[in-house]
Amino acid sequence: MAKDDKRKGISLGIRLFVLIIILSTVPLVLSSFYLTSRAETQDIENTVQRSREQAMILANQLQASGYISAPNDQSVSFMLSQVADIWDARIQVMDADCRIINDSYNVDKGRYNVSEQVMSCLSAKSVVTYADREEMMSIIAYPMVRAEGTERTVEGIVLVTKDLSDAVGGILYVRERMPLYLLVVLGTLVLVSLLSIFFLMRPLRKLVQSVDAAADGSLRGSVNVRNYKETARISDAVNRTIGRLRMLDESRQEFISDVAHELKTPITSVRVLAESLLSMGEVPNELYREFMEDITKEIDRESHIIDDLLSMVRLDRGVSALHVSNININDWLQQTLKRLMPIAQAAGVELAYESFRPVMADVDEAKMTQAITNLVENAIKYNREGGWVRVSLNADLKYFYIKVADSGCGIPEEAQEHIFERFFRVDKDRARATGGTGLGLSITKSIINMHNGAIKVHSSTEEGSTFVVRIPLVYTEEDAGEEQG
Ligand code: ADP
Repeated sequence: MAKDDKRKGISLGIRLFVLIIILSTVPLVLSSFYLTSRAETQDIENTVQRSREQAMILANQLQASGYISAPNDQSVSFMLSQVADIWDARIQVMDADCRIINDSYNVDKGRYNVSEQVMSCLSAKSVVTYADREEMMSIIAYPMVRAEGTERTVEGIVLVTKDLSDAVGGILYVRERMPLYLLVVLGTLVLVSLLSIFFLMRPLRKLVQSVDAAADGSLRGSVNVRNYKETARISDAVNRTIGRLRMLDESRQEFISDVAHELKTPITSVRVLAESLLSMGEVPNELYREFMEDITKEIDRESHIIDDLLSMVRLDRGVSALHVSNININDWLQQTLKRLMPIAQAAGVELAYESFRPVMADVDEAKMTQAITNLVENAIKYNREGGWVRVSLNADLKYFYIKVADSGCGIPEEAQEHIFERFFRVDKDRARATGGTGLGLSITKSIINMHNGAIKVHSSTEEGSTFVVRIPLVYTEEDAGEEQG
């Protein structure tokens, strides 16, 4: 069972589950990481920009107050330490020689700051911005520039150093807790998707159960799961298949009962004849001969039925493959009709043949002979004394056509669609009297189908019947069986 299941593949439910989880988790995780990283960058950029603006204001003020030339101004020093507190930053002020004249941390005053940022600010005479995400620190070096004509000199530098940890504190908080959030979201997703799949798959489970039940129940049940368009279509398709199988089963049963009946009829006649002969005691020789002739006729009939049955079964099972060869259809048809001439003469029916053009085509000669013989024999059998049967041959670029027309009793309109069915006979008594089995046309049609051809009948009870057979001139195996009538 387990092995069987494996061969059947992975369940649709599992596939759906994996798909939902992947499709929802991957974008969720990626977007979370992207958004937090974007927010962090934005926060840092904003803070750096603000520090830059603050450094600019401070530099302008210090330059205006002449602090560089009078660095002992206590009120300015006080203001600097206050501003540094409010900004939560370290502020250093340097003169043009890079000597620190004020440090809000009060540690480096009097020393020289020759850091990279200070040096490049000094040489470029413009603001230098530096932000380090690893160290979580930003440095702004803002020059106090004095312009005299075209001459620009740097009087001093304001250096604002700021710790960025606070700026990205919110984001760091979110990032720290993100695995937990994701875990909760994932858990909810798993639960919701399992529930949804369970409910979504319910109609499919029902469908499988109904199909199983219908298959086990000897084709009696039907499938009706209409929750989804798809399940409704599958139900309809399964019902159509079950219907077709049921019809096949019924027609098989009907066929068996027909065969049994047909085979029994001659045997019953033989038995009745033999019994009545026996019960008569001493019988004259002529009567005895007459009875024996009748018995022989019934035995012939039985053997005829069995022959027809055997060829039909062989054709049905495809046991007798076609042995196609390119032959002269005119010659072959003439030969076939020549063999049938004595039967026509015995029935007092004129048999005529007309050909409109020479035809070469791919056919199985033996099988086509059987098919055309059946048609011509019928045209003779179901004819009247002094009547006629006209067989003609014509062709176009693709097909050749054989027409078998007769002046017989015709086929009633309502029977015409059934004459190609097995054991169908319009008038059972007449057919039996003429040795008909009801299998001839069914065999003919099978043979014509095997040649990818078609057969049509036009008939009226006043004018007789015309059967038209159309066969492709060139036989192609791929088409075999596609064109059915
Ligand atoms: P059967 O062996 O009884 O002739 P077929 O299958 O050959 O069986 O024909 C089926 C039935 O179709 C016949 O019993 C007959 O009633 C009718 N039929 C066939 N061919 C003709 C025809 N040319 N004229 C009138 N009826 C025909």
